[in-house]
Amino acid sequence: MSVNVDVQEKLSRLGIYNELDLILHLPIRYEDETHLFLIGDAPQGHTVQVEGVIIHNEVVIRPRRQLICRIEDDSGILVMRFVNFYSSQIKTYAVGKRIRLLGEIRNGFFGAEMVHPKCRIVRAGESLAHSLTPIYPTTAGLTQKTLAKIIGQGLQDTQTLQALIETVPDKIIRKYRLKGFDDSVMCLHHPSPEESIEALQTRTHPAWRRIKFDELLAQQLSMRVHYRQRRSLNAPVLEQKNTLKDQLLPQLGFELTSAQIKVYAEISRDLTAAYPMQRLLQGDVGSGKTIVAALAALQAIENGFQAAIMAPTEILAEQHFMKLSAWFEPLGVHIVWLSGGMRKKQKQTEMDKIASGVAQLVVGTHALFQSQVVFHQLGLAIIDEQHRFGVHQRLALRMKGTQSDLMPHQLMMSATPIPRTLSMSYFADLDVSIIDQLPPGRSPVITKLIADRRRDEIIARIHFACQQDKQVYWVCPLIEESEALQLQTAMETYQHLRKTFPELNVGLVHGRLSPQEKAEIMLLFKEGKIQLLVATTVIEVGVDVPNASLMVIENAERMGLSQLHQLRGRVGRGPEASICILLFQQPLSKIARERLRIIFEHTDGFEIARQDLQLRGPGEFLGARQSGVPMLRFADLEQDGELLEAAQDCANEMLNNYPELAQQHISRWLGNKTEYLRV
Ligand code: ADP
Ligand code: MG
Repeated sequence: MSVNVDVQEKLSRLGIYNELDLILHLPIRYEDETHLFLIGDAPQGHTVQVEGVIIHNEVVIRPRRQLICRIEDDSGILVMRFVNFYSSQIKTYAVGKRIRLLGEIRNGFFGAEMVHPKCRIVRAGESLAHSLTPIYPTTAGLTQKTLAKIIGQGLQDTQTLQALIETVPDKIIRKYRLKGFDDSVMCLHHPSPEESIEALQTRTHPAWRRIKFDELLAQQLSMRVHYRQRRSLNAPVLEQKNTLKDQLLPQLGFELTSAQIKVYAEISRDLTAAYPMQRLLQGDVGSGKTIVAALAALQAIENGFQAAIMAPTEILAEQHFMKLSAWFEPLGVHIVWLSGGMRKKQKQTEMDKIASGVAQLVVGTHALFQSQVVFHQLGLAIIDEQHRFGVHQRLALRMKGTQSDLMPHQLMMSATPIPRTLSMSYFADLDVSIIDQLPPGRSPVITKLIADRRRDEIIARIHFACQQDKQVYWVCPLIEESEALQLQTAMETYQHLRKTFPELNVGLVHGRLSPQEKAEIMLLFKEGKIQLLVATTVIEVGVDVPNASLMVIENAERMGLSQLHQLRGRVGRGPEASICILLFQQPLSKIARERLRIIFEHTDGFEIARQDLQLRGPGEFLGARQSGVPMLRFADLEQDGELLEAAQDCANEMLNNYPELAQQHISRWLGNKTEYLRV
């Protein structure tokens, strides 16, 4: 690009590094300067362009200081009003000058008016624009005019134009009735006046449709390339011997749900392949993912390999350890536990067991992927609550098997349901299994919204629940700005509740406690020795105490939907009807009100996630992925679901039959932005 360093720097802030980036920098909206309206005919409430002669120019002081000009054409008079203006403008817009204005006409204090229109002085008969005026996303110090000019030059450059070759095979173009790529790019930068400005603005125009399709296609292609590459790696073949599984199942005290059976079959089949599984197991909170993970682990173990389960918090890891010990010890499976908070000597002992292979199943936290931890033969790595871990952490664990040249299989689990369109797009490099059913005998949680000033009503409910031998969670407000403040609030809440309920055993668990202290408190709660547990959001993931049937969440308006859903999932785990009370503080912001409405109306995690995606876009769901995966700039997953399916179809077809075009397409759209996919 022939621009100076200063401009180059500004362009790079917009993600523009080369010609191709430049011409794919597409307008956010358009202005129609191809047409002049008569002042008397111009519709109100739409952006219109008018032209007239300035017949009056005045700075008024009341109701506030502003510049008022009256403009006249053959059909009428219009007021142009500036609330902020330079004194030079008073001169520029002198009486007698001819001016062209673009803006919305409204009825104001001074009659029909345009406030702060886009305007410029013109000569009589000056020609109109030949195409709609594109308005580009830009950055401080780079004006629309400059940017439009640079892009305009880019579009005339013959080399650039050659770079616009068609990468999508004819067959697909016809099948999905797509507009040509070069035509689409040209049209979006300089749409002719005949094009529907409405369709351009709403991005439903065929040219937009094509660009979005191409963007989604690039994403699909890169994900699928990655997916296929993984199949060329080696992993241990773990046969379905089923001896340990057949011993475990009768001991469980429950039957697997058909959803659990189905997903286990998918995982189990993957484990028999000679390339590494990379599967995401999704299931709402309480859907029973742990037992499925346990069965998968057994399949590795009975083939002489080790399995590891990694959890994001000490509480959760400990809980897995207890549950899995109870299941596995009767089978003679040796299970060890590794945590950051362990004493050095004990840690070494456990690590020795892991290195020698004595440990068949290893449960732990982040401590599992520290470099000192060496596995004897890791066959399967299971990552619970995967969105809590960064990409690199997951990989570190995966690499643990590379002592031999075998990659371990990888199972990721998530209780944050990922909406279908998201798993089809950003997660298309993974296989996905879904547990779409809860174990029987659960009664749905009743959600109540209560304004904070009515919190006294809750006291009676807590008394009542505890008299019935039920247990209660009290979740303290989330204070994102300060951990210290969060802790202080938790302490105060705890003290306050102890005074309010002198006859109850009240416990407190928060993030600053040592892992051992946390575990002790959770155990007391589990055993019923604590009746009211005050907690920060550390209990968000995985905690399982079926006898707890009442939960109070303070300042629920501050929490995100998935967090609320996760928290609420801690109750409703027993046969008894459970209640979740969301205390909120007024006034509510619009988005907080919307979130509370959604969580109140829905219990299905997938529906909540779908609405959350609509509310906030994909960022939140991607968690650690976000940093590694190029985000979609043009396509909208909700709105463009149909294109997403087409792109998915097309990606497979291209990888099979048009590998070169596929490669060209990927580098056009992603260039060097596919780092993550290479690891
Ligand atoms: P999550 O999917 O949230 O990790 P868990 O695996 O912790 O859920 O399971 C929640 C509870 O349900 C546990 O107490 C577990 O033992 C129990 N459970 C799992 N599967 C079944 C089933 N098929 N029938 C009855 N209870 C089950
Ligand atoms: Mg779990």
